[in-house]
This record gives sequence, structure tokens and C-alpha cells, in this order.
Amino acid sequence: MEISKELFAKSCKLIPGGVHSPVRSFKGLHQTPLFVHHAKGAYIYDEDKKSYIDFCMSFGPLILGHAHKKVSEDITHAISKGWSYGACEKYSLELASFIVDNISFIEQIRFMNSGTEAVMTAIRLSRGITGKDKIIKFDGCYHGHSDSLLIASGSGLVTDDRTASSAGIPDGVKNDTLVLELGNLELVKQVLEKYHKEVAAIIIEPIPANFGLLPQKADFLKGLRQLATEYNTLLIFDEVISGFRMGFGGMAQQLSITPDLVTYGKIIGGGMPVGAVAGLQKFMKHLAPQGDVYQAGTLSANPLAMVAGLSTLQELTADHYQTLEQNTQNIVGLFKDWLQNSPEAKSWSNYEVINKGSLFWIKSDGQGTKFADFYQLLLQKGIYLAPHAFEVGFCSLAHNEAVQEELKERLWKTN
Ligand SMILES: *Cc1c(COP(=O)(O)O)cnc(C)c1O
Repeated sequence: MEISKELFAKSCKLIPGGVHSPVRSFKGLHQTPLFVHHAKGAYIYDEDKKSYIDFCMSFGPLILGHAHKKVSEDITHAISKGWSYGACEKYSLELASFIVDNISFIEQIRFMNSGTEAVMTAIRLSRGITGKDKIIKFDGCYHGHSDSLLIASGSGLVTDDRTASSAGIPDGVKNDTLVLELGNLELVKQVLEKYHKEVAAIIIEPIPANFGLLPQKADFLKGLRQLATEYNTLLIFDEVISGFRMGFGGMAQQLSITPDLVTYGKIIGGGMPVGAVAGLQKFMKHLAPQGDVYQAGTLSANPLAMVAGLSTLQELTADHYQTLEQNTQNIVGLFKDWLQNSPEAKSWSNYEVINKGSLFWIKSDGQGTKFADFYQLLLQKGIYLAPHAFEVGFCSLAHNEAVQEELKERLWKTN
């Protein structure tokens, strides 16, 4: 970690907190972040030339693994023809067709640059369509860092006790975001009865994966669909993580629930900066220039992101999803076995491992010293988790049997 340490010290002078996104900072982990030199398959290599099995995978986009050969070739081919036109091109058309052809509830899609932008647009679109201002979101879901979505519920269940999770958010914005308890359909119903004339949309991660992994009952999500229809408000599924991961059509397809709008990011750009809003034409047509809800972007539908996205999505066959889930189950089994049976892990034997599809979460006691020690030990062993107790683990197709063997060896080897 010597070189990484020096680089981080330099970074802290030039960049607030030394990082370009807070979750990279290793805050609370009693150490400084490693600096990645390069990555391949399931491994990242730091500036100190140490290798790590990567379970962060850039926080989700790299479902095929790092530097996947075909994706890399497709990007290289595209880059020779220029990489930004600010004009119409065929790459985004091909990606749009591929998605619309394969997901039944999508007729139109608009590409942008990040998941945050996608969610922000979906909210504006809902407000534009319904002529209403308020939104309902749930405690324990993350939807990017736009103002109206950085509101958390306070200590109480109901909606008058809201706090902004960031400084700089106006009260007016706070008043328009109702934050409810996950899984409590009765509460959603009560709030809609009271506020339905004002609620433009209900937004949810259909499998919340940003404050640990919090799988929801199908009945709750189906109930939201019914209530949204009943009270004339839109249902937005934020599938920025789960889209193309919990099967091609994400949770919506898995549960046969049709959201009015869906937001994507992460996998849909294959590791390049991207976001997308999609849905039926009757909703999407309200976006400018066809409709009166404005949205734009200098680098939107960037050719390299479109190529990386299409190249990635084309690899995601039913067989590959099965392999991916099997990889994940094996890996979860290895972590569980080590946590329960290794003398070295005895301080953490109460940690559980929760798994859904190719996501897993090592459920700890939160961000205390005990977790910091756990994290540090794994790092020493050459195992890289996303650097926070509430971040989930991501598996990829590159986490194959050879990597699983290596994981087992690294877990059990003691110095
Ligand atoms: C990552 C994420 C976002 C934000 O996407 P960015 O590309 O980081 O802006 C929004 N919603 C969910 C569910 C996410 O996981």
C-alpha cells in the first residue's frame, strides 16, 4: 500500500477528500484507498503491484468482468472512427433496438450520461405528465444525487419528519419528497389517500442494493403497481443496478410487473458513463423535442458508451445468467464457510451473507472498528470488497471456477 498511500496524500491536496465519489474514500476503514493500476477479468492490480479478487466491479457495470476481450475489441474498432459527434449516429439506434426488441414494456428509450441523470429525468417526466409535484420514495433506496432524491426519512415512519442527506437542499424540495418505510404497503396507501392529488410518482429500487441488499416481497411491489394505477400516479422502477443483472429485463421482467418508467445505468453502458430512461411511448413521447419536458446532453448517447453497452448486452444469454448465479452461489458459500469455520474469522462469525442473483451482501455490524478490521484482513488477503459496510458485492462472468479456487485459497491462507 506504500505507493497508494503517497498518491492518496497527493490527491487529498488537489481533490476534496482525495476522491471523485465519496464511497471510494475508505472513510471509517482506518486506512487509505488503494490506487488501481489496471484490471483484467475478476482481478484488479494496484500501483503497488498487488492483485485483488474484485467484488466491487466498478459498483456493478462490469457484468462480464474487467477488460472483456470482445467489448474491448468493439470499443477499439469504434474509437478509430471518432468518439463524439453531437449528432445522430447508428450506435445508439442499434442499442435502442436491441433493448426494445428484448424487453416487452419498453417502446422508447432516451440515453444520457449517468444513473443520476436518468432518475432526475424520470422524475421531471412524471411531473410533466401528471402535472403534480410530490414524489414518494423509500427509506433504504438510493436513486443518485439529484436534490429531490437526497431526502431521507428522519426517525419517524411518516412523512413530516424528513431530513436532507446533504447540505444545500432547499426546503421546497424537501417538502415535495415523501419518504416512506420499505415494505409497508398500508402506509403507502394511507399517504396516497391523503396526498394523491399531489403525487406524481412512486420511485423504488425493486431490489434495494445500496444500503445493503434488502430483497422485497413480490406482493409489496405488485401492491405498489396497483396503488399507482388506482391513484393516477406513475410507478418508476429504478433498475440502475438490477437492470440486465437480475435477468435481462431486470426485476420488472422477473416479477412480471410493468413499471410506467424504468431507469437504467451501470450495465447498460458496459462500464462507460451512461444512463437511460425507458418506457411506453405514451409516457416517453412527453420528452423534448417531441414533448414539453426538457432533457438534453452534450455527450448523451456517446458512441463508445453505446458500443460498450451493446457489446455487453449481446453476451447476456440465458445460459450466461445461469452461470453468473452459480458463480455467485459458490462464492457466497466460500465466504459463509470461512466466516463460520475459520479460527481467523471468529470475531465475525455472526456476519451473515445475503444473496440474490449475482449480488451478495456481507451483513456486518455496520461501519465500526470490527468491520474495519474485517475489511483490512480481506484486503491483506487480496480480496477487494466495495469499501463500505452497506455496499453490496457484485459478481461477474469472470468470477469463474478458477477464481473461486483462488478465493478459497486466499481466504484460508494465514500468515
Ligand atoms: C448507481 C445508482 C444510481 C446513480 O447512478 P450514477 O451513474 O452513479 O449517477 C441511481 N440509482 C441506483 C439504484 C443506483 O444503484
